[in-house]
Amino acid sequence: MLQLVLDTIPVRVFWKDINSNFLGCNRNFALDAGLNSAEEILGLDDFQLPWSEQAEAYRADDREVMQSGIPKTNYEEPQTTPAGDQIWLRTSKIPLADENGKVIGVLGTYEDITELKKNLIDMEHQATHDSLTDLPNREMLLTSIGNTIRDAEGTGRISALMLMDLDRFKEINDTLGHHSGDLLLKQIGLRLRQHLAENGALVTRLGGDEFAIFFRSVESEEHAIGYVKTVLAAIKDSFEIDGLQVAVGSSIGVSLYPEHGNNPSNLLRCADVAMYHAKQHATGYTVYSADHDEYSLRRLALMTDLGLAIREDQLLLHYQPKISVADNHVVGLEALVRWQHPDHGLVPPDQFIPMAETSELIKPLTSWVVDCALRQLADWQRSGLEVTVAVNVSTRNLLDGEFPDTLERLLREHSVDPALLELEITESAIVADPARTREILQRISAMGVRLAVDDFGTGYSSLAYLKGLPIHALKIDLSFVRNMTRSEQDRIIVESTINLAHSLNLAVVAEGVEHPETLEALKDLGCDHAQGFFVSRPLDNDGAEKWLQAWRHLVV
Ligand code: C2E
Ligand code: MG
Ligand code: MG
Repeated sequence: MLQLVLDTIPVRVFWKDINSNFLGCNRNFALDAGLNSAEEILGLDDFQLPWSEQAEAYRADDREVMQSGIPKTNYEEPQTTPAGDQIWLRTSKIPLADENGKVIGVLGTYEDITELKKNLIDMEHQATHDSLTDLPNREMLLTSIGNTIRDAEGTGRISALMLMDLDRFKEINDTLGHHSGDLLLKQIGLRLRQHLAENGALVTRLGGDEFAIFFRSVESEEHAIGYVKTVLAAIKDSFEIDGLQVAVGSSIGVSLYPEHGNNPSNLLRCADVAMYHAKQHATGYTVYSADHDEYSLRRLALMTDLGLAIREDQLLLHYQPKISVADNHVVGLEALVRWQHPDHGLVPPDQFIPMAETSELIKPLTSWVVDCALRQLADWQRSGLEVTVAVNVSTRNLLDGEFPDTLERLLREHSVDPALLELEITESAIVADPARTREILQRISAMGVRLAVDDFGTGYSSLAYLKGLPIHALKIDLSFVRNMTRSEQDRIIVESTINLAHSLNLAVVAEGVEHPETLEALKDLGCDHAQGFFVSRPLDNDGAEKWLQAWRHLVV
């Protein structure tokens, strides 16, 4: 009866005498042993069974249990099967005693827990790895830094943590789609691993477009910077995504143990602050310094203050003129916002616009700028100065269905002819949500407001996006214009942009004209308008008015 029961269970059961000779087993054990039935086991020992190589070890276990009289239960061991497969067994052995308590043998059970082990390993892998790139995740990074720091304490060893964030990844995602974005991230993970494997670096993905690389042991800061350069070089060559060559830049922040922190979260925070600094200053990489912390605190404080600044009129506009290249006539002014901060002085837009753009704050900010610019324009008109004013608008404004209404209301309030207002939009604004942007731009254009694409040539947008949009002008980015008299390549870009714009019936503005020879070159190429330090730097309202008066006398 007992044998019948034993034969039905998956667990292998066997019992042996005091000399480790088998007395019996269940059916599944017999099958493992290559026997036809359980009865055949009687009198055999482990040396005569397929696992004869492990026989000595098994018998040692038996002896231990029998001599101590203490059961040994649920111990898990990896085993190699006679066929060469790696498996995991969970084994228990208990001593068998007669009615007087004398040990006379051993009862053993084992079961194959290979599947269970595999699942556990899979689960652990999932908990410590990023599912997209299969790189270790933040969890594992923090554990690894923690372990390294514990081992390094008192040894004088230095470790380096790098935090890498891709530049303009969002743009790639928006332009090429999430599928391509994912492929790119995978390839970056792969490339980082390939280039850093030899250096014993732990390459991890923290999420989004953020990767962290941990070097357990570096000799010095210079040594760590050497690795940073390896990383930057690894990323520099373009990636092939669905047949397209895609180039990405990245910004890296570096923190060092023990100099910048002696726990994982501190090191990560410092690397993050340094990375942000690298991004803001386009330096490629930055090693953490305490000064950067002040900077990031200031950033935070600025963000909190900005809402107040808009309400309390701490913002002001400077105006940068645009002239006609052919006859030097003034054609308009671009309004550029500044922030007169009570503690920090005059803060340039680069330090708060990107921040405002990540929140709803950009909406009241843009409304403030339009309101202020229109008031000034009305003022100038009353003094007989015929100019147009351009205002920069952000992506978020062009996704906001209420923005055209606000514009309409402000134009009415200031009684300004809509044709005198121009909005400058960037390529990224157009590609973020083309259908929605198109609808909003069409509403704005229908009011008679003119539209220009700013910083043209720096984005990823294809010309296909421009097609069918109610655009009036392209502003060639200053990075091409500034060097066009020295760089043949830049000159070619400027020339072809001018030709392209003209064939689409668009006016062309060159920004960043810093020298008279640039203006000459633009004239030769038939560029319509020019703007830049050579013509005039941005001026405050009084300065702009004086400039307009003086310029009028000059050209007339
Ligand atoms: P942008 O619209 O492309 O404006 C041109 C920027 O280039 C201005 O910097 C201007 O001072 C600078 N610039 C002009 N001519 C030259 C030149 O010849 N050489 C050089 N090196 N630079 C020149 P600014 O005023 O610091 O503005 C920076 C950016 O901030 C603007 O770039 C624009 O994107 C943004 N911005 C400014 N005001 C506003 C605003 O009211 N709203 C929004 N959304 N963005 C704004
Ligand atoms: Mg602009
Ligand atoms: Mg620009």
